[in-house]
Amino acid sequence: MILDTLRQIVGHVGRARDLDAALKAIVHGVRDALEVAVSSVYLLPRTQVGRPDARLVLMANEGLAAEAVGHVSMGLDEGLVGLVAQRAEPLNLDNAPLHPRYKHIANIGEEAYHAFLGAPILLRGEVLGVLVVQDREPRHFSDDQESFLVTLAAQLASSIIQAEISEAVMVPTGTSSRQLSRAAEPLRGVPGASGVAFGVAVVMYPLADLEGVPDRVCDDPQQELQRLRVAREAVRKDFALLRQSMASRVTEEECALFDAFAMMLDSESLLQGMERRILAGQWAPSALRDTVREYAAVFAGMDDDYLRQRGDDVRDLGSRILEHLQDVEGLELDYPPRTILVGREITVTHLASVPEGRLAGIVSARGSSSSHVALLARALGVPAVMGATDLPVERLDGRELFLDGYRGAVHVEPQGVLREALERLVGEEAQLSAELATLRDEPAITPDGVSVHLYVNVGLLADMAPADNVGAEGIGLYRTEIPFQVRDNFPGEDEQARVYREVLAAYAPRPAVLRTLDVGGDKPLSYFPIIEDNPFLGWRGMRLTLDHPDIFLTQVRAMLTANVGLDNLRILLPMISGVGELDEALELIARARDELREEGLPIGEVPVGVMIEVPSAVYQIDALAKRVDFLSVGTNDLTQYLLAVDRNNARVAPLYDSLHPSVLRALAEIVAGGRRANCPVSVCGELAGDPLGALVLLGFGIGSLSMSAGSLPRIKRVIRSVPLEHASRLAHAALDCERGEDVRQLLRDALRSYGLGSLVRSDADV
Ligand code: PEP
Ligand code: MG
Repeated sequence: MILDTLRQIVGHVGRARDLDAALKAIVHGVRDALEVAVSSVYLLPRTQVGRPDARLVLMANEGLAAEAVGHVSMGLDEGLVGLVAQRAEPLNLDNAPLHPRYKHIANIGEEAYHAFLGAPILLRGEVLGVLVVQDREPRHFSDDQESFLVTLAAQLASSIIQAEISEAVMVPTGTSSRQLSRAAEPLRGVPGASGVAFGVAVVMYPLADLEGVPDRVCDDPQQELQRLRVAREAVRKDFALLRQSMASRVTEEECALFDAFAMMLDSESLLQGMERRILAGQWAPSALRDTVREYAAVFAGMDDDYLRQRGDDVRDLGSRILEHLQDVEGLELDYPPRTILVGREITVTHLASVPEGRLAGIVSARGSSSSHVALLARALGVPAVMGATDLPVERLDGRELFLDGYRGAVHVEPQGVLREALERLVGEEAQLSAELATLRDEPAITPDGVSVHLYVNVGLLADMAPADNVGAEGIGLYRTEIPFQVRDNFPGEDEQARVYREVLAAYAPRPAVLRTLDVGGDKPLSYFPIIEDNPFLGWRGMRLTLDHPDIFLTQVRAMLTANVGLDNLRILLPMISGVGELDEALELIARARDELREEGLPIGEVPVGVMIEVPSAVYQIDALAKRVDFLSVGTNDLTQYLLAVDRNNARVAPLYDSLHPSVLRALAEIVAGGRRANCPVSVCGELAGDPLGALVLLGFGIGSLSMSAGSLPRIKRVIRSVPLEHASRLAHAALDCERGEDVRQLLRDALRSYGLGSLVRSDADV
């Protein structure tokens, strides 16, 4: 019962069209559920969250004087509401006026109420506001009531933020000063790929996902109405066919479900809702989305279980109509010259669909800096903001955005002085790129004369050209899973050999490291589905290919064949967690080589390396190193597994830190192990392409770094500016730090002292 009520309130809030409606739904739902006289929500303006001088504003209320809303406010050191926020703890009082912190506010009628219960609204440890209920007679709220309010407050935080942002974006030049100050606030995500850019948002959304449909205006309402008619007719036919095909399998009664759907399809109110919206200028998909939302909300608010479930039917019907609308829509998207791809989840396929030269940036609600889309953005040299969980995707299509890939921030249609500052930043960035481009043919040598080898990470044929333009010494990591991902079945040996030959030939005689298939985890193959509770700890990389030696042998044979006459191939093995796996893989490689030799091909010896990206491999470094020709550290996974932080989960993104002292200690172990075995160590994880990371890696004595093409010029600049002797002092000092922030600060200060501050912008710079 309590759970049902909670679900209902959270549902109403989630569907509210703006912040005001969301807050009204909260106070109404709470007052009803707890049967109390007064219910209120106080919020801190977003610009004040986390500040000691912040003031809580009464934003919605039932039970007190109506004029109080928007006018009553109190500091964190004032009143009981301030106390709840200050302590970030619930407060349950029988008789509030007796409490020393009670503060009387005149003319709102509060003096009549004695019982008080307040719960903080917290998001990731930060107080956003306070939820309060009050009752006339002195009494203690029960444990159940208290836990109801606390649970609700915990569930509401992200919906409130979502409603606030959505409203700010919808009304960029809002009427009240409160709205205006919010619109100037950027949307926050995490840095995905460096750089800054202005561009126009093109929203990508999965087909038939009603909630992902963006707002778009239509120029020709009659045409939209016609599209809607065609789509409804198509759904009607679907239902008739479904009914027919089910008739022999289920009872007539169960078949009647399809009639109910058909009736709903013809419902006057549903139809009118959609027509009204289209005639008011919406395109058919968003008119459908809003009408369906409205009806589903009506059903969701009903007490009867059966009727409540009809809300799901309305949504189901909406998705079916949408599917057909999308058929007629013909998915030809118009990509403006400076396209910023925006979506709940931007995929590699979305990237590939943008015509060459038009992609200016990427914003994705899901994912983090080590997601593959972010890696590709870096390869293509465009900024990316990932993990922008509160992104109001539906409101952004066609809007001008400013992306800041250094700080993970997105501004929607920035104006005035802010716009001028951002334009200045774009100018400075262009100047930096021009300066960096002049380094293309300069050697990567430190001022004290030590050469560092710089390679690129590639995966799409599209990123081969930019990679070649930055003056890399070769390919340090070719992720073979990407050509596997963009197909709909396993490529055969000949086809693979053709792709690999192209890659090797593009760089010969410079070396090219091809990594064997690393699918599983966050890299799925549509034609080889793997369903697991913990994919990153499951059937991934080497584990999968050792269980399928056929896949592995085919791939290695294709690599070796492609190498004939070029001789620049190196093979790299991913996700090795112990010597057993490595020995098995080495045997299979030898078998592939022998088979091909027997078939008459002149197969030479090829260097084989192992990725160090699982903590167990760090502790077996000597045993692994003595078996192979090189070690390549995958800091993306090593960080994920060492810190137990999912590399794609935006919620824990602040914890994902490749400069964490534990990661640095593991790196030091690996370097020492490599030295003992006389086995060269390189780094191909993203840390190598981060100016701070490269500095510390250099200091550890790692002489070979592989990174996205977009990062390489910056790293060359670092190498050419900082003497190795200073880098190694910094690396030692970093090992003594206790926190990632301290390491960052140390390295950032060092880079600034060489005039390289522009390579590592931070919040303080804007
Ligand atoms: C790594 O884990 O650091 C790495 C380079 O591999 P991937 O990002 O492809 O998992
Ligand atoms: Mg990896």
